[in-house]
Amino acid sequence: MLLQRPEARESVRQLIIGTHLSHYEPLIKEATGENHLINEAAQKLHRRALGGESEEAPASTARSAAFRQEVMRLYDYTCAACRLRIITPEGRSAVDAAHIIPYSESRDDGIGNGLALCKLHHWALDAGLVALDDRYRLLVSNAFEERGHAALLLRSLDAKPILRPRQIKSS
Ligand SMILES: [Zn+2]
Repeated sequence: MLLQRPEARESVRQLIIGTHLSHYEPLIKEATGENHLINEAAQKLHRRALGGESEEAPASTARSAAFRQEVMRLYDYTCAACRLRIITPEGRSAVDAAHIIPYSESRDDGIGNGLALCKLHHWALDAGLVALDDRYRLLVSNAFEERGHAALLLRSLDAKPILRPRQIKSS
């Protein structure tokens, strides 16, 4: 009857370890700890397999929609790199709300980490061909080849300041 109570079992276990197996104690502790970690990982996988991840999905969808809306509004649907602004009568835009530091790294959906960019410049940012310096100027990589209309080329944007929301409001 005593051994059916978990606390009693634990006491007996400690007593046996302490009196007969004390030199194994560190090993036992390590194994118990590892077991615990493995169980936790298995439970997480199990929850994911059962679709438990969907708990997070609506929140993250709402969050990214809010991020997109706010960035687009602040930049007035204008590419911060090349100033392209195309809007259809249905309100569709050629500009995306991009993350300056990728969300996967920064987990930052704040407006300060947001930038409105046309498809080309969003792609170039994600591909690592352009970056921003700390004074909001574009840094363009040398490691690519380009041809085309001079005004649309990527390299010509090197060291150019990007559009800031402040400038849109005052113009
Ligand atoms: Zn652009």
